[in-house]
Amino acid sequence: MIDRILIRYGELSLKKSNRKQFTDRMKFTIKRALKDFEKLDYLDCSMRFYIILNGEDENKIIPILEKIPGIYSFSLAERCDKDIDMIKECALRVLKENMPNKNFTFKVDTNRADKNYPLHSLEISQEIARYLFKNIDNLKADVHHPDLTLNIDLRDEGAFIYVKNYQGLGGLPAGSMGKVELMISGGIDSIVAGFLAVRKGLHVEAIHFASPPYTSDNSLQKVIDLLEVLTPYTEYQSINLLVVPFTKIQKAIYDYCRDDYCITIMRRMMYRIAERLGKNRGGNAIINGENIGQVASQTLESINTIESVVSMPIIRPLATMDKSEIIEISRKINTYDISIRPYEDCCTVFVPKHPQIKPRPDMAEAQEKKFDYETLIDEAITNIRIISLKTGKHFDLFLKDDIF
Ligand code: ATP
Ligand code: MG
Repeated sequence: MIDRILIRYGELSLKKSNRKQFTDRMKFTIKRALKDFEKLDYLDCSMRFYIILNGEDENKIIPILEKIPGIYSFSLAERCDKDIDMIKECALRVLKENMPNKNFTFKVDTNRADKNYPLHSLEISQEIARYLFKNIDNLKADVHHPDLTLNIDLRDEGAFIYVKNYQGLGGLPAGSMGKVELMISGGIDSIVAGFLAVRKGLHVEAIHFASPPYTSDNSLQKVIDLLEVLTPYTEYQSINLLVVPFTKIQKAIYDYCRDDYCITIMRRMMYRIAERLGKNRGGNAIINGENIGQVASQTLESINTIESVVSMPIIRPLATMDKSEIIEISRKINTYDISIRPYEDCCTVFVPKHPQIKPRPDMAEAQEKKFDYETLIDEAITNIRIISLKTGKHFDLFLKDDIF
């Protein structure tokens, strides 16, 4: 009977020098995500990590593992001793339990990681296949395109037989790459950027600029719903959302600045605030859903004029993707249907008719000199609301003012 899940790390195996640090973090995340399954045991061997089921339902565990960054693939396996007769019995049992239909084809594939094993991998595969033919009627082999591959993994710690292989999320262990500030709107793009960041091992803190009463509670709820989709992928199954009151800044921009520069200046303000929050809260970069050429503020000239106000690195995971590729990811992670709900964003509320597509930094600066934006930024930051999102629930966090 299937008694364990065998986990393989992906890119992780490339990181020789700090491998242990990475694998420890992986294991920590896996155990934390599975903490409600009390009967599980864990076994750690070089290059492999085993979850021993002890009767827990693997079908409830698989969807959780599929969301853990850093797992390359995993298999449902049965362990047996390395004695060839035991392997034969085990292989027969596993195959019988997993036969898809009467007319399927199969092959046996042996990985002989234990180099001291007396038989070579091909010999093992052949011997096992012969035994299976003898014990199951009408079995058909196809070494090139089998319907089912019976894998035999011979390792120091035993023989592992499996047929079911699952693709993992890939990427790097949750939180292993440091903290970033994600600029999140209710649209399609930024949550996808956030997902890619989390998958790559970044600890994401989300920042949303809200302009009540021009933007409604529904808009904020949408951002919350989007971020909740991301929480199972994170180290602690949680994400903090910082809601920045942006109305006064936006009004000042529209009162004092040239129409065609409003979007540029608004985004410079967003970047300034995101950088300050990052610097004060341990963030090392800003991440957003910008995509080259998608809107006026995403031409190279705009990007240059906007990002010139900060020194923190800006990461744009979607920069060169096509919209259809972004949508494909959003469908896969189930954010698309939330993103297309109607909503007002602070960007859309005050859109000028003809935004600059080639704004200049000196022109933007000249406009900004017309009002005291530093004081407005201080005020916005002081009034930030922090919402702590956990899978299925969220609550406001009250932090000391000096945290900013
Ligand atoms: P999205 O689909 O994510 O809304 P977009 O294509 O609509 O992106 P813009 O509105 O120009 O593009 O925004 C570009 C990026 O700026 C967004 O992907 C997001 O990272 C950030 N952004 C936009 N609006 C907000 C907001 N209200 N709060 C925080 N970040 C925002
Ligand atoms: Mg948007």
